Amino acid sequence: MQIKAAVIHEIGGDFVIEDVEIGDPQSGEVLVEIASVGLCHTDVAAQHGHLPFPMPGVVGHEGAGVVKAIGEGVTKVAVGDKVALSFNNCGECASCKKGEPGYCASFMALNFGGVRPDGTSALSQGGTPLGSNFFGQSSFATAAIANQRNVVKLADDADLSIVGPLGCGVQTGAGAVMNSFDAQAGEALLVMGGGSVGLSGALAGVVRNLSTIIVVEPVASRRELALELGATHAIDPAAGPVSEQVRAIIPAGVDYVLDTTANVAVLGEAFASLGYRGTIGLIGVPADPEAVMFLPMMGAQVLGAKVIGIVEGDSNPDEFIPELLALHAAGKFPFDRLITKRPFGELNEAIAAQHAGEGIKIVLTHG
Ligand SMILES: [Zn+2]
Ligand SMILES: [Zn+2]
Repeated sequence: MQIKAAVIHEIGGDFVIEDVEIGDPQSGEVLVEIASVGLCHTDVAAQHGHLPFPMPGVVGHEGAGVVKAIGEGVTKVAVGDKVALSFNNCGECASCKKGEPGYCASFMALNFGGVRPDGTSALSQGGTPLGSNFFGQSSFATAAIANQRNVVKLADDADLSIVGPLGCGVQTGAGAVMNSFDAQAGEALLVMGGGSVGLSGALAGVVRNLSTIIVVEPVASRRELALELGATHAIDPAAGPVSEQVRAIIPAGVDYVLDTTANVAVLGEAFASLGYRGTIGLIGVPADPEAVMFLPMMGAQVLGAKVIGIVEGDSNPDEFIPELLALHAAGKFPFDRLITKRPFGELNEAIAAQHAGEGIKIVLTHG
């Protein structure tokens, strides 16, 4: 079948919307007509070669749409179902069996390998295979092949123009607070970075009735939004050392730091803001995959501090995405406030706008 997809032809090149051939869904696969797709930092990282992904290829990994066809053995969804797409996982390794698919032993191959497990690609152009299966979807396109393991069935009245980011950025920030930290009422959270992941974490802090939610963010409009969404404080890092600003608010330090920046200097301030038995959660993707953070050993022991790496908010999307949608329907998790919609054809302009700090989470829509 012919579809339109945003093809990256070489590392660092623009996205070019072109005709692409998509194959039929194979065993366990689902063909999804994409209604909208969120733009996430990882798409841009792949475009610039910071993640290994075969070029020419198609990325995009916060897709939402309607099932158009199913392959052999698919039981989870049927044609006509609305779905959100998330990350892929094998379902068979020790982590998957424990319900921790973000730590699937095949995570890298299944999400960044650019091919199906059998080495074939779902996408081609003029007979030449394209890098595909990005996060098990490659949804910067009018249709995508996903695996039944990484589609989440939605209610018939789900709004397909907003649900895509639940599959990655929003579940990552919210899941870090609700699953990884399991933050409880009355505790204090510090969020480093007021982008879509950080603000999703702040929204989750509101869900959990935290007493203090501090967002550190250089862009004034994002600080204002953080306060509107329920953060108790928003700090400008240019106004002085962050840890001093935090201690002025909460002298004992915070219980949790959610770091979305992957910046070594910021992490130093994160550690200096931590209270006893505090936890730092690492969810930012460093530009240099070999980047190292420094931890004061004595200080870490005195505090009883923990540092944890977190993938996709430790979430099991089949359970967590419906949970977030139920909170949204109850008016308790207004993640749609983070979203700016743009036509799919404006993908390159949307990336430039996001880079300039305009818009928190851009969702590209078809039609
Ligand atoms: Zn697995
Ligand atoms: Zn993402």
